[in-house]
Amino acid sequence: MFVRVDEARALLAALLPERQVQMVPLRSAYGRSLAADLTAKVSHPSATESALDGIACREADTLTASPDAPVRLRLVGESRAGAAFTGEVGAGEAVRIYTGAPLPVGADAICPVEQLQDDGEGVRLRRPASPGDVRHEGGDFRAGETVLMAGMRLTPARVALAAALGHAEVPIFKPLKVAVMSTGDEVVEPGQPLGAGQVYNSNAYGLVGMLEEAGCEAVLLPAAPDSPEALEQALASVGGADVLLTSGGVSMGKYDFVRDLLVQQGKVSFWKVRMRPGGPAMLGGWKGLPVFGLPGNPVSSLVVFHVIVRPALTGQPLTTLRLRAGTPFRGLSDKTAFWRASLRGGEVFDYGKQGSGVLRSLSDAEALVVIPEGGSAQVGDEVDVVLMG
Ligand code: AMP
Ligand code: MG
Repeated sequence: MFVRVDEARALLAALLPERQVQMVPLRSAYGRSLAADLTAKVSHPSATESALDGIACREADTLTASPDAPVRLRLVGESRAGAAFTGEVGAGEAVRIYTGAPLPVGADAICPVEQLQDDGEGVRLRRPASPGDVRHEGGDFRAGETVLMAGMRLTPARVALAAALGHAEVPIFKPLKVAVMSTGDEVVEPGQPLGAGQVYNSNAYGLVGMLEEAGCEAVLLPAAPDSPEALEQALASVGGADVLLTSGGVSMGKYDFVRDLLVQQGKVSFWKVRMRPGGPAMLGGWKGLPVFGLPGNPVSSLVVFHVIVRPALTGQPLTTLRLRAGTPFRGLSDKTAFWRASLRGGEVFDYGKQGSGVLRSLSDAEALVVIPEGGSAQVGDEVDVVLMG
C-alpha cells in the first residue's frame, strides 16, 4: 500500500501501545511528555512586591519631585525578600525596599535607588515614585489556575515553571522503548577498519539521538547482515521494545530482506510513502512487535524519522513556518517533496545537493521545504518550512 505522509504517521501511531503514566521527580522530567494538566498550588508573586531596589512610599506624596525640587520622605523601616516590613507606611514616610520584597501596607509606589539621595534618616526623591514598578500578587499565575497542559513537552523552562507552581513530582507518559537496528552486509561500526565497498553505520547514531530528543528510551542493537536467517534471528532477539526501527533493506533490491521478512512472516501495514526522500519506508509487524522500516540512505532515513516517526511517537505535530523562497523549489507530480534548505535573512534557500546519500546536507541544512504533490515554488513565493532539530 502506497500511503501519504499523514496516513503513514497515523498508521504508526495506531500500532503504538497505550501510554502508561508515572510520577517522576522534577530532576527526571526533562524532555518527557506531561500526562496531566498542572495547576498552580500557589500564586506568583505570592504577594505584591517591588520590582526594583529603592524605597516604597505613597505616590501622591511624590508627584512634584524633580532634580531641582526633590521631595524628602522619612525612613521608617525596611522590607526585604523573605522579611517583610510589618508596619504601615503613612503620609510623608518611606520604607527601604529590595527586589522581590513585599510592598508594605500603605505604600503604592516605588522609587529606584538611582533616583534617591539618602541621608540615613530620610531620602530625597529626584522624580515621582512609580506605581508601575511593582509586581502584582498573582500577576504571573494564581493559585488554582491551570498553567501547564497535558501533552506538553517538558522543556527546561516548563520544568522550572512546574517547580514554581509548587510541584516536586509531575505525571509523565512513560517513555516508549524504541530499538534501532541497522541492516546491510556493508554496514560497519565506526572505529573498525573500512573495507572496499563498506560504509560506516551512521544511521543508527542519528536515530538514537533523535529518539532521545523525542523523549524516547532508545536501545541500540548490533547491525544485522543481509540474510533472511540472520535477520530473523536479530528480530527474535529484540526483547521488550515497544517499536523496532530498522534502517535499510526495504527497497526493491534482491538483498532487501527486511521487506521480505515482513511480507512473508509478518504483517505489512504500508510499503512506500508518497514522499521524497524516503519513498521506500515501510510499516508492519513481526510476532507482535511493530516494525518501522526506514530506508538505508542516510538522508532518507533521518528525514522519514523527522516527518513521520517522531510526530507519531510523541503525538506532537511538526513545527512548520511560512517563509519566502529565496530560490525556486520544484515539485513532484505524485509525491510530497522535502527539500533540504538553509535559512538566511528570513528567507529559505535550496541546499542544492538533494541526493539522499549526501550526509553533509543533514549537518549544513537546518530546514526542509515542503512542496506538496504537483506544486512548486518560485522566488518570492511563501513555502512551508519544517525546522530540523
Ligand atoms: P538499502 O536501503 O539497504 O538499499 O541502502 C541504501 C543505501 O544506504 C546504501 O548505499 C547503503 O550502503 C546505505 N546505508 C544502509 N544502511 C546504512 C547505515 N546504517 N548507515 C549509513 N549508510 C547506510
Ligand atoms: Mg541494504
